[in-house]
Amino acid sequence: MIRAAIFDLDNTLTDFGKLKNEAIRSALLAMQEAGLDLHPQLAFDRIMNFYSEQGWENQKVLDHFIIEQCGYLDYKFLAAGIVGYRQGREAALAPYQYVHPTLIKLLRSGLRLGVVSDAPSREAWLRLVQLNFHHLFDAVVTFDDTGERKPHPAPFQKILEKLNVRPQEAIMVGDWAERDMLGAKRIGMTTVFARYGDLFSTSESGADYEIDRFDQLCEIIQKCNEGEQ
Ligand SMILES: [Mg+2]
Repeated sequence: MIRAAIFDLDNTLTDFGKLKNEAIRSALLAMQEAGLDLHPQLAFDRIMNFYSEQGWENQKVLDHFIIEQCGYLDYKFLAAGIVGYRQGREAALAPYQYVHPTLIKLLRSGLRLGVVSDAPSREAWLRLVQLNFHHLFDAVVTFDDTGERKPHPAPFQKILEKLNVRPQEAIMVGDWAERDMLGAKRIGMTTVFARYGDLFSTSESGADYEIDRFDQLCEIIQKCNEGEQ
């Protein structure tokens, strides 16, 4: 019997790739408007390159970029970039289609809901609160809660403990096969691959189920619970 649904955050509940793209494009426009000489597409590619080398939560990519362009850190350009970044990010942060009504439906059916994210706690909570998701989830586990990243069992064990369910009673939804699906499966959870959020063109997700749309989850949970009541 499935009693809890647990979700990865980025690229499962929200389109994190789109968020980063929009935030950086907006930062570049703001810096250009402030007088920084840049080529929008080349600058965008350069910054995405910084992210892939230094991690997607790196907070210094604009500093690096400005130093590279000017030879020193110009604070007018940095401030313009940060303000532009925040405006772009606010505008782009939204749940995928069908996420909100589906979560409400699952809650009404009596399921407990959790989030397990590898993002640093501060960033994960900022996204959750901005989306008003902090009212919907019974428990949240972020990177700083265990110091381990998926597929390590620690974050999965922690969220199960917080939700007070056994692995067999939980379904895990995520976009990253090697982290979300493998890690959850190893400890005995049912797994659902969020194919709509997959950035790696994964052919074999290794999951028990796959969804192209978030609301397909209801049918899967219903199927899992049929005949077990
Ligand atoms: Mg993800």
